[in-house]
Amino acid sequence: MHIARLLEASADRYPDHLALIFEDRRWTYAEWLGRVRRFAQALSDLGVRPGDRVAFYVSTSENSVTTYFACQMLGAVAVPMNFRLSPGEAAYILQDSGARVLVYGRNLTENALKVAGQVRSVHDFIGCAYDKANIPDGHHHFDTLAEETVDRHETRPIPASDAISSLVYTSGTTGRPKGVIHTHANDIAIAMNCVMEYSLSHADSALHIAPLYHVGGMQAYFIPHLLVGGTNVVIGRYEAEKTLETIASEKITTLFAVPTQIQEMLFHPRFAEYDVSSLRLITTGGAAISSTTMERVMMEFCPGIFNGYGMTEASLTLVLHPEDALRKLGSCGKPTLISECRIISDDQGREVPPSETVEQGRIGQLIVRGAQAMEGYWNNPFETQKKLKAGWIYTGDLFSQDTDGFYYFHGRADDMIVSGGENIYPREVEEALYRCPGVQEAAVVGLADEKWGQVVTAFIVRSDPALTAEKLDAFCKTGDDLAPYKRPKRYEFLDELPFNPSGKVLKRELVARYNPPAAA
Ligand code: ATP
Ligand code: MG
Repeated sequence: MHIARLLEASADRYPDHLALIFEDRRWTYAEWLGRVRRFAQALSDLGVRPGDRVAFYVSTSENSVTTYFACQMLGAVAVPMNFRLSPGEAAYILQDSGARVLVYGRNLTENALKVAGQVRSVHDFIGCAYDKANIPDGHHHFDTLAEETVDRHETRPIPASDAISSLVYTSGTTGRPKGVIHTHANDIAIAMNCVMEYSLSHADSALHIAPLYHVGGMQAYFIPHLLVGGTNVVIGRYEAEKTLETIASEKITTLFAVPTQIQEMLFHPRFAEYDVSSLRLITTGGAAISSTTMERVMMEFCPGIFNGYGMTEASLTLVLHPEDALRKLGSCGKPTLISECRIISDDQGREVPPSETVEQGRIGQLIVRGAQAMEGYWNNPFETQKKLKAGWIYTGDLFSQDTDGFYYFHGRADDMIVSGGENIYPREVEEALYRCPGVQEAAVVGLADEKWGQVVTAFIVRSDPALTAEKLDAFCKTGDDLAPYKRPKRYEFLDELPFNPSGKVLKRELVARYNPPAAA
């Protein structure tokens, strides 16, 4: 079984059903399959062969999904790239993956193109600028290839299920992005898993505002909707109001949004003006969502909210279903149908037992295995060995489990704060801060301190300009859920938090910016 087969099967069953909407263009399954086939033929004519890497450095668009599926038809390896990367970071991925072809978007600056041009492995450049005349000399034009190539219906070898389908680079939250190897079998397992968890059907219309170059947007959201013959609606550039507008005009039924996008929509002054009643589910993940936000979504936006925990290496691993959302607020739910999870203590790898209260210290690292688990990191045996042991992926994330089997995220192991010898989990402090009226975003880190080792520092984006550090401190004192040593000793107010495009706060950036310079 290979991924292109999923598209062919849906086109066979639902030829006239709308497959893809991007800006003012619409394709039925039959039409889009034709376009993907022509583009696959064009890549083949350029010399792309099974196993060759085709990178795309293009904003969220039809171009990226067409390229992805064309690669799957050829048995080539898709390498989606974050289009917001700097030229140097992009060159690193091109080099690391050994890409043969680069599909690039209008957003690419001349400088980025020059840097990409210096990567030896890249033979061909395909520009997605809509005006053919703007394409630099020697480059190909995406639309011309996808529309004017004659599909010769070549018989091609069908990729084996353990062949590599894509290299998906991690978000780079903790360092350089790592190329996660996905196979056809992995991606099909991920897609089917999501279809079952979210009960998707051909009647669903998905809206894409999260990046399609990550597993959360592509493997765990776009492909599942395609597999069932649903409609995928892609927004080029995310904006809160445009999203609300599109939900209303396209009668969207499912939305995947990272927590910060949800916050932005809820806090948008015109939120209440849009009819979002067609939505039957919102799925969120990629970063922790506060319990306060979950409750607000259920009351004001869509009662069917799912909180999914996953990573590039293992995709959707845990999910909290709407029926449990209120009674298990703050949880990431239970392992998905294909995931096996354990929480282990650091030292001996012994399993941490479930516990009624987290205070008993029952927190450990989550490890996971299942059909969706990565084969390893591309070109990186050292990191692979650290992350993948005896078939288990070591997530580096701290979790506890209650006696009903629900999992609770406490933060990345690397983000844990040690202050005055006590362990403090930033997530818990952030949860308390989100309960304070006037807080829109909160991020808690430990800054270096001579006396305490680290001091708990809260970075706040306020929706109420009258909110002060004193008020926040008073609020934390009156609540009964934050022990005194966990209360922030320092507050910084920012206009916005530094998020990467996956919706993760770049805490290392905050630490670098605010840590006192080391003594000379
Ligand atoms: P890198 O590995 O390059 O440092 P990254 O880990 O941020 O980057 P991703 O694979 O995109 O790259 O993100 C996975 C991480 O996102 C998880 O390890 C976890 O820390 C966080 N995460 C994902 N879903 C959730 C969720 N629902 N709640 C809390 N955290 C989440
Ligand atoms: Mg990671």
